[in-house]
Amino acid sequence: MTDCIFCKIINDEIPSRIVYEDDDVVAFLDLTQVTPGHTLVVPKTHVADIFELDETLAATIGSKIPKIAHAIKKSNPAIKGMNIINNNGTIAYQSVFHSHIHILPRYDEQDDFS
Ligand code: ADP
Repeated sequence: MTDCIFCKIINDEIPSRIVYEDDDVVAFLDLTQVTPGHTLVVPKTHVADIFELDETLAATIGSKIPKIAHAIKKSNPAIKGMNIINNNGTIAYQSVFHSHIHILPRYDEQDDFS
């Protein structure tokens, strides 16, 4: 989709900090680092949200999450856990309408991010 910011990242039309890429997904650092290492996992196929996602693509995206999460965790020994989040619809705080999974590394008791 031409006016989609994530499609532009996938097509290399705008810069991003890519941490993982294969034929199906790209994972890049979120502009707004809610916690350090905050990463988005994005399917290369444009689908707006969970309601447009078929089972095959959902399974494909889901199958990539553990290895990306492991790689992020391995990159920083201070990471103690992770939130994995998917927002769908404006009411649910989705702001970019190209489906994506947030991976939010969590740290120790100094982690004040809510
Ligand atoms: P929310 O804004 O509530 O997190 P989403 O779940 O739709 O809504 O997340 C979209 C995310 O995309 C936001 O965290 C935002 O910081 C991020 N984002 C927007 N534009 C870019 C960009 N060019 N590069 C990286 N991340 C981006």
